[in-house]
Amino acid sequence: MLLTVSNLRVSIGDKTILRGVSLKVRAGEIHAVMGPNGSGKSTLAYALMAHPAYKIIGTILINKKDISHLSTDKRAKAGLFLAFQSPIAVPGVSVMNLLRSAYQELHPAGKTPEKIQNPLLARRWTGGGMTLSNFSLMVKDNAKKLSIDEAFLSRGIHDGFSGGEKKKIEMLQALVLAPRFAIFDEIDTGLDVDALKVVAQGIGLLASRGTGIIIITHYQRIFKYLKPDVVHVLVRGKIVKTGKAQLAKEIEEHGYTNY
Ligand code: ADP
Ligand code: MG
Repeated sequence: MLLTVSNLRVSIGDKTILRGVSLKVRAGEIHAVMGPNGSGKSTLAYALMAHPAYKIIGTILINKKDISHLSTDKRAKAGLFLAFQSPIAVPGVSVMNLLRSAYQELHPAGKTPEKIQNPLLARRWTGGGMTLSNFSLMVKDNAKKLSIDEAFLSRGIHDGFSGGEKKKIEMLQALVLAPRFAIFDEIDTGLDVDALKVVAQGIGLLASRGTGIIIITHYQRIFKYLKPDVVHVLVRGKIVKTGKAQLAKEIEEHGYTNY
């Protein structure tokens, strides 16, 4: 699996924000995109996920498939996942429900699993050949890895969740959905040390299962718990430097003023 972004130019109205961004992410690799406020980091995340407000020139490929003209849901089906910087709440939909329908959307074509007690669910569930009870177990297992209390799974998604809880739930979605490529926009912002550690471990676990990762961040503190394979520095809409994990440390020491 390979995600190839070539010469991506992104504008909103007549303002150009990204001015030719290129990167290649392989299965299981962890890439960091670091940059000062306003450098275009979130724009990169939104553009990769086809936010309708942005005009895009350039290509985005998954392997050889060009996804740059696909809508958000088709990109998700092609294997892209974005964890939002500020996820919105959907009070009426429980975390488990959301995970179920998203998983089903992305992993269709299952045989009808045996023995679902609730006939309404049984008719609706086609999750990739997995039984509904195995799916629930899989969700609970991943939740445990992130120290998420099971009670959260039946609450409305992000409804009254703290900043840290929201980020963990975003992380849980990624682990359950197992996308080919996942983008985390400032998942480290507003987390206390314990939650940061848990989220970092979650990202490491996701990468070890083969998902290619782009971590977008301002700070290097998450890299205390997670070693990036590649670090890109994004300044004023351009990648001005690419290096190894050491580059993140240099930025922590010297800031972005050199660029
Ligand atoms: P970062 O995530 O690196 O802080 P953003 O991608 O959010 O940066 O923003 C990059 C630049 O694009 C900023 O100057 C921001 O003001 C501008 N920008 C982002 N969204 C819009 C928008 N909807 N309309 C106008 N300008 C925008
Ligand atoms: Mg941002």
